[in-house]
Amino acid sequence: MNSHDEQAKKTTAERLNSVKEKLSLALKKANRKVGDCSLVAVSKTKGSTQIEEAIAAGQTVFGENRVQEASEKWPPLVEKHNNIKLRLIGPLQSNKVRVAVKLFDTIETLDREKLARTLARVMEEENKYPKIYIQVNTGEEPQKAGVAPAELEDFLKTVNDMGIKVEGLMCIPPQTEEPAMHFALLKKLADRHQLSGVSMGMSKDYEVAAQLGATSVRVGTDIFGSRD
Ligand SMILES: *Cc1c(COP(=O)(O)O)cnc(C)c1O
Repeated sequence: MNSHDEQAKKTTAERLNSVKEKLSLALKKANRKVGDCSLVAVSKTKGSTQIEEAIAAGQTVFGENRVQEASEKWPPLVEKHNNIKLRLIGPLQSNKVRVAVKLFDTIETLDREKLARTLARVMEEENKYPKIYIQVNTGEEPQKAGVAPAELEDFLKTVNDMGIKVEGLMCIPPQTEEPAMHFALLKKLADRHQLSGVSMGMSKDYEVAAQLGATSVRVGTDIFGSRD
């Protein structure tokens, strides 16, 4: 039996516990405390049965990358379990801002001025203020969302002037590059601008991210298995 089959045989709870263990070990190695970096379980494409298993195993923080999917799946689960925190980690369109503001505790993907304007208005109208992160395109990939590192300072000023308090930064490094330099850059940018949140690291590289200062890692496949 190969290791992929071994993984598939495990329950969601077992995989979740093994990710938590690896995360704690990585943090300890870097002289960080377990509480310094939270685990966001990325449940995109996964149904409520698997999500319930993760909740039963103690997971409370979940990430979703599509507003539509999250808004169909999560309201009954949030109602049933009162301590769930949801984080939007995928692109946000202006016409989905209201749904997103109502549903999510954190929106990690602010990346443009028009979206910031809409967010500022809708948060005030709804009197609900999710934590806001800016997505940074650390690899400056043309097809990828996010603010270029060189534009971050100006963008932060613009967004601050709109009354949005930015909590942190998130990045998705280029697939073909060593992630460590991107993680180090994101952490440096967060420190420079005194932002406490640093969202980086996925199944392949969350241990590296944790050692380089992530305050949250976003893990899907290693917890829920591969996506169809
Ligand atoms: C899907 C996704 C993840 C999780 O990826 P895995 O490789 O399955 O752990 C993390 N971050 C973002 C932005 C995603 O879209």
